[in-house]
Amino acid sequence: MIVIKKEHGLTLIEVLLVISILVILVSMGFLGMRRLLHEAEKSVCMTERRSLQQSDTLANHESTISFEEILISTGAQCPSGGFYYLGNDHQILCSIHSEIENEEVPYLKR
Ligand SMILES: [Zn+2]
Repeated sequence: MIVIKKEHGLTLIEVLLVISILVILVSMGFLGMRRLLHEAEKSVCMTERRSLQQSDTLANHESTISFEEILISTGAQCPSGGFYYLGNDHQILCSIHSEIENEEVPYLKR
């Protein structure tokens, strides 16, 4: 009499396949979370700069407080670690999140 032994469980290849699929899914989720985090930090930075812009505009009307004093007193800072500075036309820019508009690209000059 032949006894057929049923094996339960997964083979090594099946386990490796499941693990590799899980690794791919987790890495995709991690990249998505990083992108969302970056967008959130950019949004917070823009809100901080708008608030600073309003304070700076008010201070310029009164001509009493400098931009640096406003920056220190409000404690505003970029969530990504960038620093704020005054650009042209008293526009508050971030070293990380601001794209400087109307800047000529040297290699496109004629
Ligand atoms: Zn920023």
